[in-house]
Amino acid sequence: MPPGMTPKEKIPQLPEAIAGLADIALNLAWSWNRDAESLFSRIDPVLWAETRDDPLALLQSVDPGRLEACATDEHFIALYERALGSIRALGSDEHTWFRLQYPEIASGPVAYFCAEFAVHDSIPIYSGGLGILAGDHLKSASDLGIPLVGVGLLYSRGYFDQSFDDEGWQINEDEVFDPARMPLRRLHAENGPGLASLEVEGRTVELGAWEMNVGRTRLILLDSDLVVNDPLDRDLTARLYESGEELRLKQECILGVGGVRVLAALGIEPGCWHANEGHAALMMIERIRRRVEQGAAFDDAVAAVRERSVFTTHTPVPAGHDNFSFEQVEKILGPVWERLGIDSHRFMRIGFAPETGPDRFHMTAVAIRLARHVNGVSKVHGQVTREIWGELWPGRSTDEVPIGSVTNGVHNWTWMPEEVQILLDGALGERWAEQVDDPEVWDRVLGIDDAAVWHSHQRMKHRAFRFLVERARGRWRDVWGKARHLVASGPLLDPEALTLGFARRFATYKRADLLLRHEERLLDLITDSRRPVQIVFSGKAHPADDAGKRILQRIYKLSHDARSAGRVAFVQDYEMHVARSLFRAVDVWLNVPRVPREASGTSGMKAALNLVPQLGTMDGWWAEGFNGENGWTIPTAPNPDDPDEWDWEQLFRLLEEEVVPLYYDRDHQGVPNGWVAMMRQALWVSGRDFTSGRMLRDYARQYYVPVLGGGQGDDDPPTV
Ligand SMILES: *Cc1c(COP(=O)(O)O)cnc(C)c1O
Repeated sequence: MPPGMTPKEKIPQLPEAIAGLADIALNLAWSWNRDAESLFSRIDPVLWAETRDDPLALLQSVDPGRLEACATDEHFIALYERALGSIRALGSDEHTWFRLQYPEIASGPVAYFCAEFAVHDSIPIYSGGLGILAGDHLKSASDLGIPLVGVGLLYSRGYFDQSFDDEGWQINEDEVFDPARMPLRRLHAENGPGLASLEVEGRTVELGAWEMNVGRTRLILLDSDLVVNDPLDRDLTARLYESGEELRLKQECILGVGGVRVLAALGIEPGCWHANEGHAALMMIERIRRRVEQGAAFDDAVAAVRERSVFTTHTPVPAGHDNFSFEQVEKILGPVWERLGIDSHRFMRIGFAPETGPDRFHMTAVAIRLARHVNGVSKVHGQVTREIWGELWPGRSTDEVPIGSVTNGVHNWTWMPEEVQILLDGALGERWAEQVDDPEVWDRVLGIDDAAVWHSHQRMKHRAFRFLVERARGRWRDVWGKARHLVASGPLLDPEALTLGFARRFATYKRADLLLRHEERLLDLITDSRRPVQIVFSGKAHPADDAGKRILQRIYKLSHDARSAGRVAFVQDYEMHVARSLFRAVDVWLNVPRVPREASGTSGMKAALNLVPQLGTMDGWWAEGFNGENGWTIPTAPNPDDPDEWDWEQLFRLLEEEVVPLYYDRDHQGVPNGWVAMMRQALWVSGRDFTSGRMLRDYARQYYVPVLGGGQGDDDPPTV
């Protein structure tokens, strides 16, 4: 066993009969295994909720007497054995989709590089959509038996915890954690050098690494916080997406260059390299450097690296694409071009983007030039990406630009709540869970009885409301200690009222404030006493995004404004755990990005797995997911350069004329049949076409298998 924490060291006090609880807790697969989840919750339901579903924290702090009692409880032991059996079965991939489909592929794993991974809330190293997507990617790779290893950074101070001052201005607090107390195994010696080193700004930085087991998938997290490093460098991996271009470039250097070196040090030899977003582009440069160092000519090294590289771009918004000046590149990376056998002009040309000009090194351009397969994350986004980057293939029309798309999906076992799984157990037959990859299983969703769907939703909604209200009360008590917030909030969250949910990063293009554009009309909508409507908002603004913080502040103030009669609520700290409650608590999911800025969007897919239809603009996944019966869509504005007023008008028209009437149109038993039909359609479409299982099968078929199988890529790559 390599140095680091063993299960026994992390959880010292387990009775022999249930010692395997440590193995379950240390593989994140527990988080999408129903037996394992109920096992932990049975140990101590209150503590389980208090730890926000963190099995290590639970086992480290539970009363030892309680564990002794569990060890002699027959029901507990039966559940324990089932859960342990599933976790141990992950040791083999023999009967998985990938092995059955592609028995001939023997070559090594796909290395999947990403700046953030959201696997579970107890490891807060993500900020939002990209991280959630990457976490879901790892989980589905495990489910399908796709050989894949994730590479990321261990941010020891997390992203940030959100709170507010009296004026509703967002305050960011570090979310510090101790890796030794987490489901991570240290792969480097504690006080020694790292596994690999690299030069950053002329200094040598030693890198350690931690391993997380996500089912069958390993996630390797790089860490510069080693005692041997210069104090300045120990903080390089402290925080996610810190502001400041130089720091960002240093982090990308650690991820890209360090990631390649650490994998080599661990003896992992990937057969395919997938850069998930441009943050990881330096991984390709480092692989070219290694080949040149071994004697290859630069052009041959580029060709060889291309053959094994896949790149996914995630946003058309320019601010989402890092690019750096020549001076920054030279300062942080040193004269890398010398090690590549080229001059600095040729090096800068690898990162030339028409949009930023010859003086910037643009990470997306680097990755596009050096990857054999490039894709956007929905059909619309594929098209937008071909338009943006077509100039890299002079002479080709937009349609001929070799950039494809794989539409994002979400991990159904993470995002479909247990209540819905129970509903499907009853309606689809016991074995549906093993057949989720078969579209026909999902067709059966359309036959589920109205009352069963509705009551299942109502039960979830009531439970989730209790959680959200308790959480809000706790905050008022612990954080603000000011009763006036409670008073101003009136009849906070009535579970019988039509509830709209809006939760996302507060990036301005996502337009959380579209609803507030003309406040009177909103107030009229929500204060209708016969057909009340309430709105739950949640989301964080990036620490450097003052425009986003101003939108947050408006919503925060409205939620405390007596005019909104308690019908507008803001839930702090949007993260996975809160998100899962929100999807259960609402009736409609709102998603109104300015078209075409939202590359895909995934929260609407998760809402649908919770039986919640979406109302959205025709962007990202919704442009292909909307089928006329699974939600509502805002028709695209006639003037796309200034769509806000149009989109606002359409949004209110839909709410007033369609959404509210349909919701309150009940049969004699109080079931809104038309509405329920929409809920079923939402679940059907999302379960069938928008899961990460479907996404991973697409990645495997379109990109991973051709690369791992050694076939040839596009014969006319952009010039480097
Ligand atoms: C799904 C999710 C996101 C991303 O949602 P989008 O629809 O892509 O904006 C962000 N944060 C959390 C916590 C999520 O669960």
